[in-house]
Amino acid sequence: MTSTYTVVNPATAEAVVDVAMADLVETDAAIERAAEAFPAWRDTAPGEKARLLRRFEAVVDDHVEDLDELEVRNSGHTWGNATWEAGNVRDVLNYYSAAPERLLGHQIPVAGGIDVTFHEPLGVVGIIVPWNFPMPIAAWGFAPALAAGNTVVLKPAELTPLTAIRLGELAIEAGLPEGVFTVIPGKGSVTGERFVTHPAVRKVCFTGSTAVGKRIMAGAADQLKRVTLELGGKSANIVFADADLAKAAASAPAAVFDNAGQDCCARSRILVERSAYDEFVSLLEPAVKAVKVLDPSDRSSEMGPLISAGQHATVKGYVDAAEIAFAGSAPDGPGFWFPPTVVLADDPAATIWREEVFGPVVAVMPFDDEAHAVRLANDTEFGLSGSIFTRDVGRALRVSRAVEAGALSVNSHSSVRYWTPFGGFKQSGIGRELGPDAPHAFTDVKNIFISND
Ligand code: NAD
Repeated sequence: MTSTYTVVNPATAEAVVDVAMADLVETDAAIERAAEAFPAWRDTAPGEKARLLRRFEAVVDDHVEDLDELEVRNSGHTWGNATWEAGNVRDVLNYYSAAPERLLGHQIPVAGGIDVTFHEPLGVVGIIVPWNFPMPIAAWGFAPALAAGNTVVLKPAELTPLTAIRLGELAIEAGLPEGVFTVIPGKGSVTGERFVTHPAVRKVCFTGSTAVGKRIMAGAADQLKRVTLELGGKSANIVFADADLAKAAASAPAAVFDNAGQDCCARSRILVERSAYDEFVSLLEPAVKAVKVLDPSDRSSEMGPLISAGQHATVKGYVDAAEIAFAGSAPDGPGFWFPPTVVLADDPAATIWREEVFGPVVAVMPFDDEAHAVRLANDTEFGLSGSIFTRDVGRALRVSRAVEAGALSVNSHSSVRYWTPFGGFKQSGIGRELGPDAPHAFTDVKNIFISND
């Protein structure tokens, strides 16, 4: 029997709406409709696929404000963030709408004939989305998957289904044929697991926790199902003494407290060269205290609440076990509020230094020299992103190459730009999203040799 999930506004802890969760039968039916829609979508002319994706982009653009409003209410995101996120869906659709007409193969010189390669779509792609960035993470999967000729079933997180449901409706409004892009709200243990076990789903694109990602990869092995996994992180922000310390300190809070720290790319470990440590910490304190933690419906809010009471309890547990150096402020309840918090760490074995908190908490530690900084940065099972602040170009290059992470930035904190590849080293994931090659991750290469005879 279909169950429902009550979506809660994290800023007020009030119920927003009940959403029906698909059961196994409904999940199977959606997957089967996507499988039926696949041959016609695969065979749709490239220019027509491109046109439909551009129409989808235009309809999203017309609804940016509704999508913002939904995300502010459902996820507690600030207006600024929600506007960027809806705009990112539009821009990602625009970027990949060019892909159907440019899905180029090779013509390879061989003896006795000609040889050509094709990037063939896989079939139905299952996309499983977490609650922290419901709109962009959905689009990073569905836009290139659709552009490459696949049909898509997408499961939003239980906590944050509203914008994904709306995007599913907008796709139909834009004229995408029925079954090409289907959003199925459901539980991870039911709908998500079924994406892994249903033989018609040929690839699972998962973003979420490392624990669930490992389980999905193990389950996918049974059918040799393709996976892309975007998982957790514990990224380092490395500040050398020769850096512009004022810039490094001013930008450090947003690099970890954006989205209340519920960001897999959060620079949640700050490493500072010992000779600059005291000055950096003294510059960091006012920057942290200046972060405006306000109800996200207030347009000047820079940080909203945590997503749920459960996430609040988890973050509090980490902070209670550590020693707080200083913290910003946050509204008193109701809602799942937590202030931006700084911990001074001296032990690389400490839990707060090793585990992903997924909340507005950062740990700061001094280092002695370049080699020590790299050793500390890499002393983690994760490898998603990171930043390096220095004025020395050679050092910036050496350290960028030495840090084991997929998305690094020098003298800035950018991680995700849709033009460039994004994904993790080590236990932060497998595969890459975004960038020019993303559609290839939703295809298999076919090689055809045609004899001269
Ligand atoms: P989660 O792993 O609990 O859930 C993610 C999604 O997986 C949800 O839609 C959930 O319903 C589904 N799911 C849960 N159990 C499942 C199962 N057994 N089979 C299939 N699907 C299942 O993670 P979360 O708590 O929603 O998100 C937070 C985590 O996501 C953090 O660890 C964070 O680092 C990570 N994350 C990573 C990235 C990245 O790009 N690397 C981006 C965002 C979040």
